[in-house]
This record gives sequence, C-alpha cells and structure tokens, in this order.
Amino acid sequence: MESAITRLLSLLKSSSKSKTSKSSLKSKSSLKSKSSTLKLSLPSSSSIQRLIISNLSPTYLENSSKPSQHLSQPKQKLIILDINGTLIYRDKNFGSKYNPVGKIHLRPNLNDFLDFLFSNEDYFKIMIWSTARPMTVYYLVDKVFDHHKTKLLDIWTRDKLELPKVEYFDKSRNIVKNLDKIWQSEETWNQMNTILIDDSILKARLQPFNAIHPISFRKKFQRENDDELLKVMDYLNKLKYQSNVSFFIRHSPFNIY
Ligand SMILES: [Mg+2]
Repeated sequence: MESAITRLLSLLKSSSKSKTSKSSLKSKSSLKSKSSTLKLSLPSSSSIQRLIISNLSPTYLENSSKPSQHLSQPKQKLIILDINGTLIYRDKNFGSKYNPVGKIHLRPNLNDFLDFLFSNEDYFKIMIWSTARPMTVYYLVDKVFDHHKTKLLDIWTRDKLELPKVEYFDKSRNIVKNLDKIWQSEETWNQMNTILIDDSILKARLQPFNAIHPISFRKKFQRENDDELLKVMDYLNKLKYQSNVSFFIRHSPFNIY
C-alpha cells in the first residue's frame, strides 16, 4: 500500500510540475503546440483512478460488490461536505490579517443545494469535513451555512487527518479523508450509506466508491452557468433510494452518470 501511495504522490508531483510549466508557457507564442505536448505528459484522471482502485482493501472491494437494492422509500444517508472547491472558491489574494480567509465566492445554486439537503432531514444527515485548519473552517461554516449551521451533525477539520506536525502546518500532499475514522466512531454510518462530496479524487482515495466529485470550483472556472450542484442534487435523488451506495457509485459514478 505504501508503495502505491508513493506512486500516486509521484503522479501528483509530475502533474503539479506540468501545471507549473503550463503557466510559464502561457507567455510564449508557441503556446498551442507546447500545450499539446504538455497534455501528453499529464497523468489522466482515469490513470489515477485505476491506480487508486488497484490498491483498495479486499473488504472494501467486497462490500462495494454487494448489489444495491432500489428501495421503495429513501433510506438515511450521511452526506459529508467538503467546502473549498466544492461549495465555494476562496480568493486568498483578498486576504489580510483581519480576514485570513480571503474573498469567498459562492458556487452558483449553492442556496438551492443547501435548501435541498437540509429540507430532507429525514434521510440526509449532513456533516462537514474540510482539510483547512479549524479557525478557517468555523469561519467558512458561519459564512456559507448561515441558518443551516445548527443542523449540521458535526464539523471536522484538518486536525482529524492525523498528519505529522510538520505537514499539519504545510501544504501536505498526503491528505486523505479516511472514512473509516467516521465509521469507527459512529456505528450508524458505514460503507453502504455514506457519501463524501469533494472536488478532490485523491482525498477520497481510500473509499472512492463513497465519493461524488463535482468539477473543482476555481476562479478560472467561475461562470454563471456552472450547474455542478444541480447535477449533484439529481444524483443524490437516486442515491437516497439505494441500499448500498458504494455499489451504485462504483457502477454508475457521478462524473459519467
Ligand atoms: Mg476541496
């Protein structure tokens, strides 16, 4: 497993190097031809996904192979929400010592999305898991969730990642949201009924069939017609009837649904 993670991180590293070279290339007139070359050197998300899947635990794979039944009534699901890149974009250029979080751009349809989640309390239980530090996360939750805040089941932050101290205060590439941690702490929740909504494939790499990955909401992608959250709502409307979400997501993943 360790070697797989090492390979994964080296894929990431090459991706990040390529992205760096992409931005430096932008100023050159031969951008078009160099971009074509660059495209070939980037690891595709499907190659990363294949590597992730080849290293899953046998128990996880076995559970995700148990066919899901379409239930006549929705069954309770735990929705774990990421914040940055999924619900909002934080422009840190506008940060200051009075506002370390920066300017917050809400993703289109966010209010409808939150109303949808919190008006279905009988079968959606919502918690937050952000990899930002606690103070930042609590600030963002105040701004983003407003009156829904009191209905959150829990708020998890960077301190739940069990990172070594040096990585806690740095931009660690080892970040993974291990859902086992939630499943071990609360027996109601398990692989059958847990859904992580996160723009990062890598942070969900230990339980990929429990994750929905909307396109990352970044400044460059900001546009009025971004409809990722509407698509997530449609997908959740299907998942809420499933007895085993990991089977359903494995066979009908969000991004090609
Ligand atoms: Mg994110």
